[in-house]
Amino acid sequence: MEHLSCQNLIIGSGPAGLLCAITSNGDNILLEKPSKNFQLAKRILVSGNGRANFFNQDLTSTPSPIHEVLRPYEKEFLQYLKEECQFPYVIEHGLYYPYFNRAESLHNTLIHQLGSNTRIIKGLALRNDNDELIYLDENGKESIIHYQHLVVATGGRSYDREHFTYELLDSLNVEYEPFSPALCPIKVKEKIPVSFVNQRLKGKVSVYSSKDKIYEEYGEVLFKKDGLSGICIMNSTIAIHEALKKKQDDIQIEINYREVKDLSTGEITKLEQVSPFAYPQFMKEKVTADGILRFHFMDFYPFKESQVSFGGVLLSELDSEDFSFKKKKNIHFIGEILDDNYICGGYNMGHALLEGYVLGKKLS
Ligand SMILES: Cc1cc2nc3c(=O)[nH]c(=O)nc-3n(C[C@H](O)[C@H](O)[C@H](O)COP(=O)(O)OP(=O)(O)OC[C@H]3O[C@@H](n4cnc5c(N)ncnc54)[C@H](O)[C@@H]3O)c2cc1C
Repeated sequence: MEHLSCQNLIIGSGPAGLLCAITSNGDNILLEKPSKNFQLAKRILVSGNGRANFFNQDLTSTPSPIHEVLRPYEKEFLQYLKEECQFPYVIEHGLYYPYFNRAESLHNTLIHQLGSNTRIIKGLALRNDNDELIYLDENGKESIIHYQHLVVATGGRSYDREHFTYELLDSLNVEYEPFSPALCPIKVKEKIPVSFVNQRLKGKVSVYSSKDKIYEEYGEVLFKKDGLSGICIMNSTIAIHEALKKKQDDIQIEINYREVKDLSTGEITKLEQVSPFAYPQFMKEKVTADGILRFHFMDFYPFKESQVSFGGVLLSELDSEDFSFKKKKNIHFIGEILDDNYICGGYNMGHALLEGYVLGKKLS
């Protein structure tokens, strides 16, 4: 059995683990699961439809202990990207994108920042035993890495994570909320009219749990055979999960297609009178007197159709100052593995990047 040792063992080379390895100047091992076309930080490449919306101007605007810690580093991190990494980006309505509009631009820039103090090991982390991690190397053999600090940045179980287990978290004795799919389409109880399938409709989407409004966003809804999709529907899954957690399970979705918002000016238009001839052909049979279509939530689409996972390591288990496990201060958790859930718009990758950036500095 091979024995390695290092100062900082970082599991997972996604945006969180990668940034942590980049900014920590200790002796690092970055452990990444072996795969057919092995690549570090693969998820950056598929994000934002290959465009990578990697940050949001409001990233740390909500009050939370983690935001208190991240906020002072926000400007410094963006400056680091622009000046030290020479990575140009643009900001569109508060959302950050690579200047060249390609996720590979961010991906390649970050990989290039990895220093010689970081060894990359291909291996699947299995479990922890005291200050040692047992992993499966690329030849399928169990090996051991002894560490001073362990950083768990293994992300969630969405999209392409087929053979997911909680073995590592269980071996660390940390409490977590099991993952469920989020930022995904939803299935509804009503039958979607055949003429609606694959059609898009703009409007105000409001989500209610019993009579309480739990989410509202203007946007475009895409009708699927058995449910609804579109960014605003995907975003609403976070609020739906929160409601379900509180055992509020009567979730209704309203699409008011006579109320739209101009996203560049913020101006809202309410259509009082619409000629019946103005409606698109696909919805003619279903035009309602009040301009609202109503549905009842049934389920989320599966993990493979979700962009992030709801749940993860409970924040109450951590000291937010350095994302360390309160019961074992040399173990840290960052990125999507945390039970800290955000809508689309650069919040998810932005948190992963910034948390990695900050923790790496703190471990130096
Ligand atoms: C299709 C898609 C589009 C997205 N678009 C956006 C977007 O535009 N903007 C945005 O903000 N967010 C987007 N996201 C979400 C964002 O990509 C993630 O939230 C972010 O990548 C999380 O970073 P992370 O480092 O925490 O985890 P990940 O990026 O998931 O990285 C975790 C890494 O750990 C490795 N790993 C896991 N388990 C083990 C193990 N046991 N041993 C060794 N290695 C392991 C994985 O292989 C992976 O490389 C998108 C997600 C998807 C799926």
